[in-house]
Amino acid sequence: MKHFWVFLSITTLLFTNSFSQKPDKLTSAELFHELQKLNFLGTALYVAAHPDDENTSLISYLANHEKARTVYLSMTRGDGGQNLIGSELRELLGVLRTQELLAARHMDGGEQRFTRANDFGFSKHPNETLKIWDKEKVLADVVWAIRNIKPDVIINRFNHRTPGTTHGHHTSSAVLSMEAFDIANDPKVYSDQLQWTTTWQPKRIFYNTSWWQYGSQEAFEKVDKSGMVKFDVGTYYPELGLSNNEIAAMARSQHLCQGFGRLTDRGASDEYIELLKGDMPKNNNVFEGINTTWSRVEGGEAVGEILYKVEENFDFQNPAKHIPDLVKAYELLQQVDDEHWRTLKSEELKNIILAASGLYLEASSASASATPGSKTTINIETINRSAPSVTLKEIEIIGADTKLMPNKVLGENQRENFEISFTVPESTSYTSPYWLNEPGTLGTYTVNEQGLIGKPETPSAFKAIFNLQIDGIEIPFEKSVVHRYSKPDRGELYEPFAILPEVTSKIDEKVLIFANADTKEVQVKIRAGKNDVSGTVVLNHPSGWVVSPSSIPFTIAQKGEEISVAFNVTPPNTESEGKLEPKITLGSKVYDKELVEIDYNHIPKQSVLLPSEAKVVRMNIKKSGEHIAYIMGAGDNVPESLEQIGYQVHVVDPNDIQNGDLDKYDAVVVGIRAYNVVDALKFKQPVLFDYVKNGGTMIVQYNTAGRWSNQFENIAPYDVTLSRDRVTDENAEVKILAPNNSLVNFPNNITEKDFDGWVQERGLYFPSEWSSEFTPILSMKDEGETEKQGSLIVAPYGEGHYIYTGLSFFRELPVGVSGAYKLFANMLSIGKDEVKKDSNVKG
Ligand SMILES: [Zn+2]
Repeated sequence: MKHFWVFLSITTLLFTNSFSQKPDKLTSAELFHELQKLNFLGTALYVAAHPDDENTSLISYLANHEKARTVYLSMTRGDGGQNLIGSELRELLGVLRTQELLAARHMDGGEQRFTRANDFGFSKHPNETLKIWDKEKVLADVVWAIRNIKPDVIINRFNHRTPGTTHGHHTSSAVLSMEAFDIANDPKVYSDQLQWTTTWQPKRIFYNTSWWQYGSQEAFEKVDKSGMVKFDVGTYYPELGLSNNEIAAMARSQHLCQGFGRLTDRGASDEYIELLKGDMPKNNNVFEGINTTWSRVEGGEAVGEILYKVEENFDFQNPAKHIPDLVKAYELLQQVDDEHWRTLKSEELKNIILAASGLYLEASSASASATPGSKTTINIETINRSAPSVTLKEIEIIGADTKLMPNKVLGENQRENFEISFTVPESTSYTSPYWLNEPGTLGTYTVNEQGLIGKPETPSAFKAIFNLQIDGIEIPFEKSVVHRYSKPDRGELYEPFAILPEVTSKIDEKVLIFANADTKEVQVKIRAGKNDVSGTVVLNHPSGWVVSPSSIPFTIAQKGEEISVAFNVTPPNTESEGKLEPKITLGSKVYDKELVEIDYNHIPKQSVLLPSEAKVVRMNIKKSGEHIAYIMGAGDNVPESLEQIGYQVHVVDPNDIQNGDLDKYDAVVVGIRAYNVVDALKFKQPVLFDYVKNGGTMIVQYNTAGRWSNQFENIAPYDVTLSRDRVTDENAEVKILAPNNSLVNFPNNITEKDFDGWVQERGLYFPSEWSSEFTPILSMKDEGETEKQGSLIVAPYGEGHYIYTGLSFFRELPVGVSGAYKLFANMLSIGKDEVKKDSNVKG
């Protein structure tokens, strides 16, 4: 099982982690910093739930001040959140956030791991979280992480003793960490893991406490801290030219899709961790009493003897002077039996040898991608920029079973280039995040290969092993095959070398709503992964639907080129939903994947292969009115959704609205969190309320309570108090409180059944109090809570209607939930049945 361990450690190091598509080039001061880390044999594991939960100050402090191997274990990849920089959501957002975490670790010197848990959205209580996650699986993954990483100390970001006070994912991460601490050393627990790893008992576990746990800074000052370890996380590293908190801010600023770009901090700053289990360390030293020298490893003393001397006498002007010693230490290290430390420290030491000798090794594919079965070329560059003799014995391409044996002395500062061409084996896996290869559940990803569990990303398909003889000793150096290229406006760039299908397909609109029986044209985009692709495409569809033509032949000449073909899709007369799935046949093979590329400057380009499909929904929906004004808030796709059911939506800028401008619209809809983010609304409320008074309909979607309340006394024309009430169970029973109200009768009759099939949650930030003019329409609650009646409230105002709703239409409409569409159509249609209603009331 030796091979597995090599595999496991490859992406773990600062130098060689995945982010280093772009090679690190260390100054001698940075090299010295790495040498100090090489000579520290201690490990810390930081545990939390999401990308951005991690305390980058503490991670950086442990990695750069303590010099410990420091790993952040995030339960999830953050799929459930929002995206401030692009359109990726759900699993694609998880891919983006995974890379942002890797970028953050690249800054703060930590490593990154995950479990199979999926960020399914907000959860109030760890009991709910652990049910949806499948506690057994996620606990197994935390134990797996502890057994592989072998931390001396574990630090939880969250408090396991306060369920219900924060996101259920947060508390769960701490609960699982506490349990795993107790069982990771028991060979009877998850014993199947022991064919690949060994049991492990961490020495201590802490909670990364803070003043907010105690309500205020003042209250925290009074707390007895005898059970806590204190660090000054503002310490300065002259060899890096940075303070710890400057590094932490740079790392935190990698979380750009969450809007965490921020100013740097400098100066002394205290951080506390509270001991939960294990003995209390002395002198604020978390590793106190733990042997963190080379003597902790059997046979390590001889290695340490050499390496401590190198550190002591380090020559900043000529680090290559130390190569004979470093190579000698490497040779001794290979004789150490302890596989864990041998593997880990060999990788660190090899990178130090590379940096000390100014050795540059690169394997770069000539093209950005290739398909299985195609011919590909890899350009090899090697250069030795130091005096000691280095011989390049051979270069082996792992994954292609091919090698080159130059057996050539690399003369000082003489670049040597080679070319290796081979056929990509048919069996090569496509480049795509491994956790998305199989359908998962709401709570966990499906990963069948134990060796992949926890890894931040899919290992690259091809790696180059450079076998070098340095000072008489043969040392293998591994580099992932990358693609290096340049852009005139961005300079030299690196990206992963991707293995992609010969052809992929895509329907741009992921949900197509058919509000009547009319035929719609559906475009299918086809993209070639190689030159000269020809085949046929069909569109699989649910029964009762008609698609024509039944198949379309196509030819694409150029790799990377995309064409578009059109099918006519006719829905049945009755309500129906299902999927449209393009299937492409080339020869005897069928291709059914969509390729999504995620490309931002702060992360390496990501290729994601997903099932190519679109949801189709035929709903019998009635509506009144036609022109809708939409005021954008924090961003949602509600306008596009309303257009799908035949409304004309006009996005209006509140800055431009004057009295009377809105009268031409049947309704004005305010987007999510608009009062939190759009300053102009502060001044335009009177204009909006006048519009309602004159007979208009105003619909306000959720805003967060608190942030705006000082500035806005008037989110509604009557008193409304927003609260933090939310119903997170998307299946929570919904009761109709006002069965005669037009919102549940006109033009669509709404019943409890219309709340089937909702996703993620019912809604959030419901009002908790409202004046008597309002009528609450619905009631719902999460398990163990009281009924919440504020999800949808309506009041007449002048001649018109004002509606406030915290229901999550922004989530339901884009995924085609039919009941949500009908209810929204009723909101937009309110008042259009006045004549009928009057006659009903009077009659
Ligand atoms: Zn979080």
